[in-house]
Amino acid sequence: MDRFDVAVIGGGPSGLHAASLLAEKGLKVLVAEKKREIGSNVICTGIVGKEIFQEFSISPDPVIRNIQIVKVVSSSGNSLHYQHPSTFACIVDRKTFDQALAEKARSAGAEIALGTWVRDVTLGRDGVEIETEGGDAPARTFAARMVILATGIDYRLNKKLGLGVPDDHLLGAQAELEISNEAAATIFIGKSVAPGAFAWAVPTVEGRLRLGLVTSREPRAWFLNLMKKFYPEKMDEFRPESIQIKAIAQGLVSRTYGERVIALGEAAGQVKTTTGGGIYFGLLCSRIAADVIHRCHQAGSFSAQSLSAYEKAWRESIQREIIVGHYARRIFSLFSDAQIERLFDLVKTDGIIPLVQAKGQFDWQSGLLIELAKKVPPLSYFSDIRKKLDLFDRFLS
Ligand SMILES: Cc1cc2nc3c(=O)[nH]c(=O)nc-3n(C[C@H](O)[C@H](O)[C@H](O)COP(=O)(O)OP(=O)(O)OC[C@H]3O[C@@H](n4cnc5c(N)ncnc54)[C@H](O)[C@@H]3O)c2cc1C
Repeated sequence: MDRFDVAVIGGGPSGLHAASLLAEKGLKVLVAEKKREIGSNVICTGIVGKEIFQEFSISPDPVIRNIQIVKVVSSSGNSLHYQHPSTFACIVDRKTFDQALAEKARSAGAEIALGTWVRDVTLGRDGVEIETEGGDAPARTFAARMVILATGIDYRLNKKLGLGVPDDHLLGAQAELEISNEAAATIFIGKSVAPGAFAWAVPTVEGRLRLGLVTSREPRAWFLNLMKKFYPEKMDEFRPESIQIKAIAQGLVSRTYGERVIALGEAAGQVKTTTGGGIYFGLLCSRIAADVIHRCHQAGSFSAQSLSAYEKAWRESIQREIIVGHYARRIFSLFSDAQIERLFDLVKTDGIIPLVQAKGQFDWQSGLLIELAKKVPPLSYFSDIRKKLDLFDRFLS
């Protein structure tokens, strides 16, 4: 039986980055990924903050477009152009992005077993046993000293090993359209567009647009509604079966470590609760996980108590973002379309754009959200919101 120090289950950005960092630290690492090809059929828009490449030492080659200007459109078609002082985000091709991470992990010495679905993980006294099934390949069993669950929204192994799962989800829907004219990245908001969250249209490569939304219910119906409302000329040629749908984790996960196991990335709820973006927090928490696991390796202990340092550290880093973002998005989902229209007028006149330009950070939004909540009078329609956000601010800082 092949033996590893760490077995990572799931070859998405979180699992691959953790594998890379652990292999660089000299650990023997296996990544088991059920897909036959890294990054195939990923449902994602691929928007990441522009600092991500430098911060995590990863290649910017997968970038297909930079974002500096965003158009925000209300359900009545009222629009607002926002220009950030510089490029603040970019769109990556997720397949190339994930494959570059895989290449980096391989170069560092990690083994990546593709087409390898992990059926079961069993905890023993000296390590874990990982049973896999591999399509046409024979079933294999691996042994490791510990396991990382980086399985995205598949929480079967979290449950089996006694870890928590997110208690809230949004539903994402996305499809690609062909467009003839160049458009700015656009965000659509309003109860009659994407109840509970928002929709987007993002130009990618020449002549193509990723249209998508996140919502609390009926993503397919709301996607078709979005098309009819904003792209009626595309309805005839559009194939509804091209809509891809996937859930997105929301909220804190109660427990992300146990005896010889941790959960990482979306499997641990490490996702921005404002937008549903999970790549940045996944990479950030991979780094935290790799540091803690390296220390455990040196100390010769992968006990739950030793691994609890991982949960402590990632919560210190992003818990505030997850809580404030979740709360802010839920409050925003209470706004009626008429209140959103009033908000548009206010944003145009009330010094809010300079505040966003000065304080807006793509991946760290809680500070700006709290500032905005204090500044925007319409929030007083919901009388206790400002008080609660102030309270959060004091509690979390
Ligand atoms: C419509 C939509 C748009 C999005 N847009 C963005 C965006 O613009 N920016 C952003 O940051 N985030 C975005 N996200 C979220 C982002 O895609 C995820 O947060 C991110 O992929 C999570 O990375 P991960 O590595 O934790 O999990 P994943 O990328 O989901 O990877 C998990 C991997 O584990 C594998 N796996 C699962 N179970 C097993 C098993 N038992 N055995 C072997 N392999 C297994 C899966 O095949 C998968 O490859 C979007 C999501 C949706 C739905």
